Amino acid sequence: MELNMSRSRVLLTGASGSMGHEAFLELRRRRDAYTTRLLLRPSKVNKKMFAPYIDEPGLEIVWGDLTEPGDVDRAVAGVDAVLHPAAMISPAADRNPTLAHAINVGGTRNVIDSILREPDGAERIRLVGVGSVAQYGDRLPPLEMIRVGDPLLPSVHDYYALTKCAAEQMIAESGIKHWASMRQTFIVPPELLGLLDPILFHQPLDQRIELITARDAGYGLAQCLEVSDSFWGKIYNMSGGPNCRVVYEDFIADQFAMVGLGDYRKIFDPNWFALKNFHCGYFADSHVLNDHLGHFRDTLDDCSAMVEEALAPWMKLGARLAPAPLLKVLARRWAEPLDWIARDDTAYIDAFFGSRAAWEAIPGWDQRSAARGEVEANKSSGGPSGSEGEEPSVAETVTGREDLTAFAESRGGTLLSESFTGLTDSHRWRCALGHTFEASPGLLLDGGYWCPDCFPAPQDGRGWDWESQARVDPLLDRFHRKV
Ligand SMILES: [Zn+2]
Repeated sequence: MELNMSRSRVLLTGASGSMGHEAFLELRRRRDAYTTRLLLRPSKVNKKMFAPYIDEPGLEIVWGDLTEPGDVDRAVAGVDAVLHPAAMISPAADRNPTLAHAINVGGTRNVIDSILREPDGAERIRLVGVGSVAQYGDRLPPLEMIRVGDPLLPSVHDYYALTKCAAEQMIAESGIKHWASMRQTFIVPPELLGLLDPILFHQPLDQRIELITARDAGYGLAQCLEVSDSFWGKIYNMSGGPNCRVVYEDFIADQFAMVGLGDYRKIFDPNWFALKNFHCGYFADSHVLNDHLGHFRDTLDDCSAMVEEALAPWMKLGARLAPAPLLKVLARRWAEPLDWIARDDTAYIDAFFGSRAAWEAIPGWDQRSAARGEVEANKSSGGPSGSEGEEPSVAETVTGREDLTAFAESRGGTLLSESFTGLTDSHRWRCALGHTFEASPGLLLDGGYWCPDCFPAPQDGRGWDWESQARVDPLLDRFHRKV
């Protein structure tokens, strides 16, 4: 059944963020079909950003805070759909984990509760949440092909990824009938240089990225209002598609050339960049979401053109005139890994490099280029690792209890429920460490979740320990990269 969403009222959260703002502009283009309501914090920046739109017909602004249940109630009252990209993102989230938890997890809880309080809310109101590629953790080659259902193992110290897992689980188990979660890749905003931050160096040069432009991300979100019924009740990977794949080092090289900064190798050294423990990769199944939303529009070239267009002329001129040695001194201040080394911060050195010895062994640019050439040569003979293309979701192949038993064993655990009653029904499980928990087979098999008592929860004093979990959980072990 095609749902007629015309003339409906849509709540959009996070309209001041990069994906949210593009979704707002897209909904504005569709104002004949929708009344758009925004929930915005009454900050000076937001008031200024939305001042030009404030009296527009078809637009309603609720000034309030996601962490205030009363504000969220006012925003949700009378809507037919909620598009919920609002979140505190990295790197801010990692610097303030408590606030990130309050906004990303608490805010999502409030949205769900407000929907459930609305008349017929669970049946009637659609909810689209936005997850993150960070939920998968480190997927450097040879594990760069990612698909929904892969076990989730957020990188060490990545608080943001943990909040995204918690919020997504709540949405999937909320009892809301029409929910979806889209795990978002790296979004490139036109003002790419605004992202300059030490986090630039937390990312390994070999990282594979399947990026998306902010405008395609926003377009895709708005398209969730136009989908057929088969869209709902699922988790998706969201990116710009195979035409937006790039290796991080090449991405840096392209941006430097475009801005006029010249050869990046004269400004950075390879050992300024982490060797592991970040996230991103290529999505083997991003086409599944595109089949619903049609958001694969921009390519890597379009993305570069967009960033170039947004550059102020003085930036390009300044970049061309600035001598490389000066830029190197300036850039060095941002290279946080060098701080970890200087103060011998073993928690960070071990997480992002493996060991101090591994950091010391990082080769220079010349050796690195030679090694990369070899890898590429081997690849063209052996083909890319990982499978790609149409495959049913794991959960769709479940026909009975024995399939769930086999799945539990693949994670080193046991199914405790006597029978299989349905993919969305709660079943009882036990993990390898003896914790018992309840979860739906759909969430475990298609979401990649497993024992909540083994999952990192720093707020409860439980950190990241994938090493020891990989020893008792065979499926996790396959996706846990040893270095
Ligand atoms: Zn456990």
